Parts: sequence; structure tokens; C-alpha cells
Amino acid sequence: MAGLFDLFGRTSGGTTAGGGAKTEAARGPVAAPASGEMPAGVLAGIMQDVQLSIPSILDHAALYHGDREIVTRTIEGPIHRTTYSDIHLRARKVSQALRRLGAKPGARVATLAWNTYRHLEAWYGIIGMGGVCHTINPRLFHDQIVYISNHAENPYIFTDVTFVPLLEQVAPHLTHLKGIIVLTDRAHMPASSLKNLICYEELIGAEDGRFDWVRLPETAAAGLCYTSGTTGNPKGVLYSHRSNILMMLAAGVGDGMPLRSRDSVLAVVPMFHANSWGLVYSAPANGAKLVLPGMRLDGPSVYELLTGEKVTMTAAVPTVWLMLLQHLEANGLDLPVLERVVIGGSAVPRRILEAFEDRYGVEVIHAWGMTETSPIGTLCVLRHDQIDLPREEQVRVKLKQGRPIFPVELKIVDDADKELPRDGRAFGRLMIRGPFIAKGYFKGEGGVPLDAAGYFDTGDVATIDPKGFMQITDRAKDVIKSGGEWISSIEIENIAVGHPKVAEAAVIGLFHPKWDERPLLIIVPKPGESVTKEEILAFLEGKIAKWWMPDDVVFIEEMPHTATGKIQKMALREQFKDYVLPTAK
Ligand code: ADP
Repeated sequence: MAGLFDLFGRTSGGTTAGGGAKTEAARGPVAAPASGEMPAGVLAGIMQDVQLSIPSILDHAALYHGDREIVTRTIEGPIHRTTYSDIHLRARKVSQALRRLGAKPGARVATLAWNTYRHLEAWYGIIGMGGVCHTINPRLFHDQIVYISNHAENPYIFTDVTFVPLLEQVAPHLTHLKGIIVLTDRAHMPASSLKNLICYEELIGAEDGRFDWVRLPETAAAGLCYTSGTTGNPKGVLYSHRSNILMMLAAGVGDGMPLRSRDSVLAVVPMFHANSWGLVYSAPANGAKLVLPGMRLDGPSVYELLTGEKVTMTAAVPTVWLMLLQHLEANGLDLPVLERVVIGGSAVPRRILEAFEDRYGVEVIHAWGMTETSPIGTLCVLRHDQIDLPREEQVRVKLKQGRPIFPVELKIVDDADKELPRDGRAFGRLMIRGPFIAKGYFKGEGGVPLDAAGYFDTGDVATIDPKGFMQITDRAKDVIKSGGEWISSIEIENIAVGHPKVAEAAVIGLFHPKWDERPLLIIVPKPGESVTKEEILAFLEGKIAKWWMPDDVVFIEEMPHTATGKIQKMALREQFKDYVLPTAK
């Protein structure tokens, strides 16, 4: 990283030194956060010590928004409608049932399920009986699911009928598993070789719902989500009642992803993808109507829910929105009711931003975060002084990942851990600190991932501009080092997917005898289109620095994706490991 800083130091020496001094003056020296212990002579405030508690969100929803709807496209097929009152009752039945099955406070009870009302009930029921709701991503490899479930010591797994075949394969290897609760009724229970299958509706049907949530300190664990572990084993991020509620409150401010009771929210982002970015909490807390899409995330299905349920706000990764936009374009459809769409998990390509905002009149809120940050770290909403900027300048701001939500703190550092200037040009390792950022992993795996001042190393490389907008340039492991200087793969990819014939694009670094590494651009053309290397290079011309131009362009039929919908660079590097760039011959 030092090399890069030098690069920008050389080209913009004055800015770098000045920017550094300004950063220090504005923020003061970066000290470790206070420990929470009261020093002698300092008075404690005289305010209630009410502990933040996740089940109280559902109490609030039932009391003030009891008749508000939760709409689900069920796994069985039909649309199902219920209310927060009913979810509140049935979640307490889940708590009772888990108790009857012998689950104790502290138990990590898993869910391997799509977004449905039953999943929501199980979520609150697990946490309400003092347990930890451990969401497992069904898109993971089987041996990763086995590893995760055994590491977490899951006694029970709630799952959908569609995942019973998957569990038939992995369950024999799950060392702590006592039972699998299938989120359906008796009529839809699948035939299975598994002996310990429990029917959800029968299980909770035997309870009366008279259950007091288990009261725990707010620092007690409430949620568990493993990172996808692209290198090494997945690591468990253990959320507390406090951290999840603080994240919800922090993200709910005006310049965030706020919800009102009049909103109808489509939670496309899965509950197993880092708390569905907080929507499982913010929708009930604010009495918003919650729409859950089940397993159908294709363009027509998402469109049907958006219009049929008068959705005003929704959230998902870019790939979901590409499918929706294709459906809208192909059928000449509109989005007259939708007001806001939160997009994160990967960078928002310009073509998605422009389609939503300029063509359909829907505001895009670009979000960045990771499992370890609960997950919202930054949200991109224009500042007061950017409202009247020319459109092109606004677009350039909106393609950035955004400003940290208070009280999250960000900084970028070089290889020697020295803070870099916030000039929008210097890029370095992105570090993050705050009350809903992980300070370690479950069972101590991976050691302590914090620096001396308590900042977590995100593994991302970013710039921060003078107005505080952070922009990811790469994952640290994906950055391309050409002649000691860095090329941002994300930036090239985002421009390449703007070509009308390109569906997806990825850039990886390949060996080069003179420059160490040079970029290879890998393209998946849109269905039915064919495009040439020359067309693509001509399209990039003038939009990126000359020395960033890919040394070659190749075409493949399908892009490999990770379990959370990101392009799997590791798989691409493996696929092209013997590929020799024409410039390297
Ligand atoms: P995984 O387990 O696949 O890493 P996460 O959701 O935790 O899943 O992924 C976090 C990473 O995703 C971030 O560190 C960053 O690299 C990437 N990411 C998330 N949001 C964005 C965004 N808006 N733009 C670019 N990259 C993003």
C-alpha cells in the first residue's frame, strides 16, 4: 500500500501533506475507545438502564402496529397474509416449543431458509427464548454447511421443504443435531429418509403462546452469521441484542435507509445475508408493511410483488436488480409506486443507477458493509451541497459507497498503518470502528482483527473524499499490481458493464514478466449478443487511464458467483491460471 501512497504523494504532494494535517486537526489523535468503566470522581448519569432487547421490537410492533400486514410468497406457492399481532403470538409459541424440545438460553439454533413469515417467527422465537438465531446460507458448499453447523453446535435447524434434500446429504455429518423443523404444515411435509423431521405447524400448534421472553443483558449474543470464507474456514460473527438494535437505529436516520409506518418494504435481501441488512428489525419497529419473497427472486416474481403490494422501499444485491430491469425493459413496464431501492453487497454499476433514477424515478441508496459490520457501514445519500450539482457530478458521487452512519468511524491506512489523507485520491486499507462492528470471531477463530485503536480491518481498499464519501476500489486480495502501482478492478468492471451488449464483467490480474501483473477483462455477453474485444476496448478508451487498459479481453458463458452473489474472483483466477496474456508472450 505504501507504493500507492507514494504514487499519489508524488503526483499531488501538496494535497497529501495538507490533507493529512487537516484530517488530524478535524478528528484529533485517534485514541482507543473508552472502556465503559467509571473513573473515580466521575458521576454516573441518573437514567434508566433499560437493556436493549430484540424481542421488544416485536412487542412494540404488536402493540402499536398489530394490524399491519406481513405478506409472503410461500415456498408452497400461494401468497400468504398475516399481521404483526399474529407473528408476535406465533413467535412466542416457537420459544415455548424450543423450550419443550430442551433448547436452553445460549443455544445456537439454526435457520436454513428463505424469507417467509415462518422464518420471521422462528427468528424472534429463537432469540426470545434466550437463544442465538444462527442463519445459514443455503448457497454455501455442503462441507461448509457441515463445518458451520458443527462449529456452532446447532441442536435444531429450522428449514424449508426445498432444503430437505440438501439436509438429507449433510445431516449425517452434523454432530450436535437433534432435530430438523420443517417450516410447513402436515399436508406439505416431504417424504424423507431423515428420521428426526418435525413439522413446524404441528410443533407450535401444541403451544398456547403464553411465554415471557427471556430477559438477558443487552450484550448477550442474539445472532450468528458466518462469513463465506473465501479463504480458509468460515468465521462466525456473533451479534448481540445491543449491536443489532444500534445498527437498526443508526441506519434508520434521515440520510440512511429510514422507514415509516406508511412504507411497504420488500425484503429481497435474504435474512441469511447479515440480518437482511436490518429489515427484520426496522420494518416491525416502524410498523412498515413487510413483504417477503420466499425463494422466487427472478424479475417477473419481484415485479409482481413490487406492484401488487404497493412497495415503496426495497433492498438487494445488484444481480437481483439486473434481472428486474431486464424484465421491465423487455415488457415496457414501469415502477410508479416504488420510491427507494437500497443496493449493496457489490458495487452499484452506473447502468443500474441510471435506469432506476433517470428512467423509473426511483432513488438509489448505495450501501456498503459486511457480515462483520452488522452489516451497514456506509450509505450513499447526497449532502445538502450536492443537491443542485449537475447530474453527471451527482452520479459520480452516488456510485461511491457513501458516508459512515453515525457512530461508525472510518479511516484508510497504508501498509505501515499510517492514516492516509481524505482527498478522494489516496487509497489504502479501509478500517472501521463502532458499537456494531465485530471485535473478534466466535470461539476466537482468526485471532483479534483490530488495530491498536480498535479499528477492524475490512480487507477492502478504498478512498475517502474531502466530503467523507468512501469509495471501494477493490478487495485487498483482488487489487492488480502493475509496475508497483495499483489498478482498480471494480472501476474497470463497472464501466465495462455499461456496454449495451455486456451482461457481466470481471477483471483479474495475470502474471506479466515486465509489470508483475496486468489486467485481463472477462466478459459474459448479454443473451443473444456477440461482441468483440475491439468493441470493448474502444468503449473503455478515454474512460480509464491508458495504463489501466486490459491487456486482453476474453468471453465466457457464465460468471462464477459466491454464496452472497458476488463475482467469485478466486474461481476466475483458477480458471485462467495458465492463460498467457498476448503482451506477456
Ligand atoms: P462475504 O461473506 O461474501 O464476504 P459480506 O456481505 O460480508 O459477504 O461481504 C462483504 C464485502 O462485500 C465487503 O468487504 C466488500 O468487499 C463487498 N461489498 C459490500 N458492499 C459493497 C459495495 N456497495 N460496493 C463494493 N463492494 C461491496
